[in-house]
Amino acid sequence: MARSVSPGPEIHRTDFPITAVALSWTGSPRGVRLRLYNRKGKPGAWRTVVPGCPCGKDGAGRDGATAPRNQALVPAGNSYGYQLEAASGVRVTEALAIDTEREPRTGEPLASGTPSARASRDPSGSLSPRPAFPPSGLITRAAWGADETKRFTANGSESSPTVFTPFQMITVHHTATDPDDPDPAATVRAIYQQHAVSNDWGDIGYHFLIDQRGQIYEGRYSGTDGRPAHNARDEVVTAFHTIGFNPGNIGIALLGDFTKAERTPRMQESLVNLTGALASLHGLAPLSRVTYRHVVTGRTTQGPAVAGHRDWTSTDCPGTTAYLGLGRIREQAARLYG
Ligand SMILES: [Zn+2]
Repeated sequence: MARSVSPGPEIHRTDFPITAVALSWTGSPRGVRLRLYNRKGKPGAWRTVVPGCPCGKDGAGRDGATAPRNQALVPAGNSYGYQLEAASGVRVTEALAIDTEREPRTGEPLASGTPSARASRDPSGSLSPRPAFPPSGLITRAAWGADETKRFTANGSESSPTVFTPFQMITVHHTATDPDDPDPAATVRAIYQQHAVSNDWGDIGYHFLIDQRGQIYEGRYSGTDGRPAHNARDEVVTAFHTIGFNPGNIGIALLGDFTKAERTPRMQESLVNLTGALASLHGLAPLSRVTYRHVVTGRTTQGPAVAGHRDWTSTDCPGTTAYLGLGRIREQAARLYG
């Protein structure tokens, strides 16, 4: 993966096509503008960068949290340069031009077909039969091209060794990336790069990601036993998606921006099937509320068993339309598995 770093105001050109520009900044959430340059050096229009899901790793602070920063992954459509403009009081702490097109793919080829197709074609609208966990057609880390060396430090140690705790709940996010994404696997690799390396979390923050076609991607590494997000005792690997609420919390990210846009039917279907399969595996009633207890800090908080990020943290994530659609997700998942 080619990448190039420049958080300053100068025009930054690359000798590779940029898939996305990863940005982090402090100050106003709407305080950064960006414009892209094409191969011939011609600039496009300035646009305000919209911060994405403020996911993160639990820290050692008193409340078990680290301060959230503004973050975004701006799709760059194979541009060859970018320029940033920061409002007063805003400091861009990181800018990274990422090219994931040339990322080597190892392991098995991408799964073909719609992963949840067998649960989708009943014209009555009822989803059956019950798929097992893990969902069929899941795109493994190897299949989306996760470079596993990114999980390790220079001296060869794992930067975020896996920790497993009992399952407690599910939280839904959106990535605020390109809604008409031509290459979602490349976007998953870009998010992985941003989370694992730029943010130094050691891995991608989510347990699962779902694209517009309904394909489900394996996220955070959890071992080699073929149980994504879990160990052999069905405990959940701690990921980095809801600061202060990470242990035991399974994070599912919808690829795209659901501030105003609706989910595609296939994305909806896969989210219902994955949510239902996890609920079934763990005996969770999708319509219920839970008292979440952070295993490290002991702090307890009440919220929905199948929540949106904004149920736990002050954020727009998972976008207003996705958030308002969660009621239907819970009902359909409950019907499927209840
Ligand atoms: Zn989120």
